[in-house]
Amino acid sequence: MTAFSELNNQITACQRCQLARYRTKAVPGEGAENADIIFIGEAPGWHEDQQGRPFVGPAGKYLDQLLTSINLTRQRVYIANVIKCRPPENRDPLPSEIRTCRYWLERQIELIRPTMIVTLGRYSMAMFFPDKSISKIHGTAQKRDNVIYYAMYHPAAALHQQSLRQVIEADMLKIPSLLAQAESTPEAEQPPKQLIMFED
Ligand code: URA
Repeated sequence: MTAFSELNNQITACQRCQLARYRTKAVPGEGAENADIIFIGEAPGWHEDQQGRPFVGPAGKYLDQLLTSINLTRQRVYIANVIKCRPPENRDPLPSEIRTCRYWLERQIELIRPTMIVTLGRYSMAMFFPDKSISKIHGTAQKRDNVIYYAMYHPAAALHQQSLRQVIEADMLKIPSLLAQAESTPEAEQPPKQLIMFED
């Protein structure tokens, strides 16, 4: 068994928080284990809870369309959520649930080692861009430790608020060039860490 399927099994059986009592199925995530991009949503909804798969309801159909707009499919990226189990009545995730579940997301990121992490919505953004506002930073990228972090609105928000559709679609279209830039930067052009050590 690969480390990745082992991790999925652990997530599926997780009892670390109260959400385990309410779920039908945990939703670890799905896609390519060596994906260049991880998309991180908020939490499973009703459809996801039933199927154990991320983004399979209306927001997921829209995410599929957004991926198609940049010639990607869900098989070529990885799709995960901040929390892996559906909160009852689709309530917002609690800070304690997010803290507990963060462990799993961090293990997923460690194994996949993506070039780019795309946050979908406020909860996901807050994990990587604390104290920032989505209306200010959506569509902008930040590179840290060789990973590009990129914030987008949640696809469900764009489904409910027509004016956000153009925004999320335009933000999606920026992804290929950000990725290409990151991947075409040869190792040697990155600042040699040893030289920094000799600076003083
Ligand atoms: N919304 C999310 O944030 N994640 C899902 O998996 C489905 C809907």
